[in-house]
Amino acid sequence: MASMMQPQIILLKEGTDTSQGKAQLVSNINACTAVGDVVRTTLGPRGMDKLIHDDKGSVTISNDGATIMKLLDIVHPAAKILVDIAKSQDSEVGDGTTTVVLLAAEFLKEAKPFIEDGVHSQNLIRSYRTASSLAIAKVKELAVSIEGKSVEEKKGLLAKCAATTLSSKLIGGEKEFFATMVVDAVMAIGDDDRLKMIGIKKVPGGNMRDSFLVDGVAFKKTFSYAGFEQQPKKFLDPKILLLNIELELKSEKENAEIRLSDPSQYQSIVDAEWNIIYDKLDKCVESGAKVVLSRLAIGDLATQYFADRDIFCAGRVAEEDLNRVAAAAGGTVQTSVNNIITEVLGTCEIFEEKQVGGERFNIFSGCPSGRTATIVLRGGADQFIEEAERSLHDAIMIVRRAVKNSTVVPGGGAIDMEISKYLRQHSRTIAGKSQLFINSYAKALEVIPRQLCDNAGFDATDVLNKLRQKHAMQSGEGASYGVDINTGGIADSFANFVWEPAVVKINAINAATEAACLILSVDETVKNPKSESAQGEAAQGAMGRGRGGGRGRGMRRR
Ligand code: ADP
Ligand code: MG
Repeated sequence: MASMMQPQIILLKEGTDTSQGKAQLVSNINACTAVGDVVRTTLGPRGMDKLIHDDKGSVTISNDGATIMKLLDIVHPAAKILVDIAKSQDSEVGDGTTTVVLLAAEFLKEAKPFIEDGVHSQNLIRSYRTASSLAIAKVKELAVSIEGKSVEEKKGLLAKCAATTLSSKLIGGEKEFFATMVVDAVMAIGDDDRLKMIGIKKVPGGNMRDSFLVDGVAFKKTFSYAGFEQQPKKFLDPKILLLNIELELKSEKENAEIRLSDPSQYQSIVDAEWNIIYDKLDKCVESGAKVVLSRLAIGDLATQYFADRDIFCAGRVAEEDLNRVAAAAGGTVQTSVNNIITEVLGTCEIFEEKQVGGERFNIFSGCPSGRTATIVLRGGADQFIEEAERSLHDAIMIVRRAVKNSTVVPGGGAIDMEISKYLRQHSRTIAGKSQLFINSYAKALEVIPRQLCDNAGFDATDVLNKLRQKHAMQSGEGASYGVDINTGGIADSFANFVWEPAVVKINAINAATEAACLILSVDETVKNPKSESAQGEAAQGAMGRGRGGGRGRGMRRR
């Protein structure tokens, strides 16, 4: 009765939409499961690719979890968290992006029946966190170090890691070829933390196998003026001058006003302009440089001038490329041509301009400071080569990770099965509901081998049973058994060199658990009326499945 007498409390603006409680939680879980289902089929060497096109007509074909998630344009607020963890996994370790999304979705899926039965989500969260730290400790324990090997040996081992990453990609057919290339590139830049020092240049056309590695810098020939043909296109040990100035005859007709009283003075103005440019060019020549690169334009006058003196020049070189030449060849970019000392000139063993497919390339190889490498990628269609670049990026990241924290774990679901078994065993020692939750967590981890089987068309139940049996062996000799992608049975992943750096798994487990816990801890979403109309439309088109139909079930509050 009392409540009826009281005036209604209006807390939120008219039109605010809130939904809360169990229904909200279940709806969020459904949305995340839907996202998991989207990327599910891309996992592993036999995973499928996704073709995503937007209304502008750009088409992307990708197998990379992070790329797909980014392009999907997910609008569901809870599901967006999965996009974020995929991105963070991508920037942290560079690989395992599908894994992380899949794990998070599976953790939530396992939690759903408990939530529906009225378990308080905080209980689940606590158990999940415990399970996660146990799992990570176990991964660290099982990880094998590749430290203390000779360089050659280490290279071989790193190439194995790179090959595992590449095997799930479009270029998986040539994984050994590219794995070696990636390892060489990473080794070339040494301990340098600047990933930018590895350049990837894409030249559509030709065969994948025509791709090659330059132990230095390569970039596409820039726009050139007449006279360029007369310049020499190959030098041995040339001095390289790097500039950030324009070498062009500036006709001051647009941005200056000159008042003359006597027409004869006009000539002197024109002469002055010519003198300035000739002075600059003379100084470049005097420096002894045989190759002149500038970030800004090098005009026709300068081109011809250099050609007459057997000097090669290129203007409008991208800043990134110029910096890489500077790092590799050991020069410094100059903003003035006055007082060029030999110290600021770079050098390399061979400079040449070469034809690569339909493009001309300027290639600087045998650079003294090393520290940079360029992969020139060849291959059919644009989309193919774009995906190849993304795949190489994954592989490069993995090799770099492996170089830094050189421990690896067996892939192909082996490590996941082993942690799963360990958690199951551990859960038996725990009394109370937590036992069930940790068990569910353990079960969720099996999604990796199961999905690897599903994607390859194997009988997942059969393979998983075999794997469980192997991993349950007391002696522990079955610990590195995973899915054998070639035969449809099981095999020792370690012996088959299906390796992954331990950080990939550790980070994936960590991030997936955190995301799952975050989503489980949300019991209410509030959407303010302003954003309603704008977002509502987008939501309808983009991700119908993701919305999970939960909103209607939530209570409307006034
Ligand atoms: P992610 O984006 O998570 O890296 P991938 O599509 O690259 O997804 O698939 C990675 C999974 O595939 C890992 O679990 C890895 O162990 C497994 N894998 C890679 N190569 C093989 C192989 N040759 N045999 C079995 N499993 C493999
Ligand atoms: Mg991968």
